[in-house]
Amino acid sequence: MSAPARPSIAIYIHWPWCAAICPYCDFDKQATDFRLADAYIGALIAHLHAESSRAVHSIYLGGGTPSLLRPDRLRHIIEACRAQMDVLPDCEVTLEANPSDIVPHKVEAYLQAGVNRISLGVQSLVDEELRFLGRRHDAAKAVRAALAVRETGCENLSLDLMYGLPGQSEADLQRSLDGLIDLDPAHLSCYALTLEDDTPMGDDVAAGVLKLPEDEVVAASYELIQSRLARTSLDQYELSNWARAGRQAIHNLTYWRNGEWLGLGAGAAGSIAGLSYKRHPLVTGYIASAARGDPAYGWEEPWTRESQMRDTVMLGLRLAEGVSDRDFRDRFGCTLTDYCTDRLDDLVAAGVLIWKGDRLALAPSRYFVSNAVIADLLP
Ligand code: SF4
Repeated sequence: MSAPARPSIAIYIHWPWCAAICPYCDFDKQATDFRLADAYIGALIAHLHAESSRAVHSIYLGGGTPSLLRPDRLRHIIEACRAQMDVLPDCEVTLEANPSDIVPHKVEAYLQAGVNRISLGVQSLVDEELRFLGRRHDAAKAVRAALAVRETGCENLSLDLMYGLPGQSEADLQRSLDGLIDLDPAHLSCYALTLEDDTPMGDDVAAGVLKLPEDEVVAASYELIQSRLARTSLDQYELSNWARAGRQAIHNLTYWRNGEWLGLGAGAAGSIAGLSYKRHPLVTGYIASAARGDPAYGWEEPWTRESQMRDTVMLGLRLAEGVSDRDFRDRFGCTLTDYCTDRLDDLVAAGVLIWKGDRLALAPSRYFVSNAVIADLLP
């Protein structure tokens, strides 16, 4: 009897360079050593070998700022994926882009290289907020970039919005939100500003120079976003993500459904074939390790049944569709009721969690406090 086909996977490719560093950002990135780009691409491609022949349903180029990549280099990366993996014909190929880098002829070259989805980091359409965030673009440039993507015929456009900014008024948030809706994106991601200690803005907060809005203010902003978007054709399918029908991010659904993904590049995380890892975060170290035939894991641990069960609940409850009890049982041999704490029944009785057929989901009114609810459920 032949072995059952293994499920298809996602590939995340990290492009670590940025033209300038934003003061709130804690991603793995750098603004120096651009001359290492080709050696870095060689290292990425070397690491594809480990999972060659797996079917691939999504490729996501994130960063850093992958829109700094020359289209010919991007084509080289995507062609290497196609040569070494079984990239499915309808594979979603997303490029994260900074509005400052986007002009129509460059978008066209990206599309010809194989990109079919562009995620534009607009963040705000209020110039003072963009200056505060240290972004390279202003509101007018962000709008021009979105229209440039449109002009090329790329309909699968995702836009990002940030809320919970210090001093952000309701009117400012409304202005950004309305402006983004007017651009008619297929997908919209809305994230609250969160600051890690080791960022310049995090230091300012620790020193008392900068004050983040209170939780109630951030919660009110989230409610405003939910209610405004409820009057559009964008459906909320995840705590921070809205999409037109059929335009949910296939790549990110892989994470939330706790599927397997191969992470390539400096600082890239992955969970695949029973292993979870994060690659070496420094570009030079990453390239040197790959040249030695080393997977360049900075950190790795077995992707155990226990951690997969926890992640399936924790990530799946972020989705409006929730977690399927049947799929959970098929994968782990026990039901959600067996796995979760005995708070499950109380939370269902209180309307915090809802059974939709065999799927357990969070009530939309509790999305903002999801972390607390999920922590209550996990053994
Ligand atoms: S927010 Fe984006 S553009 Fe800014 S430093 Fe971080 S990765 Fe680079």
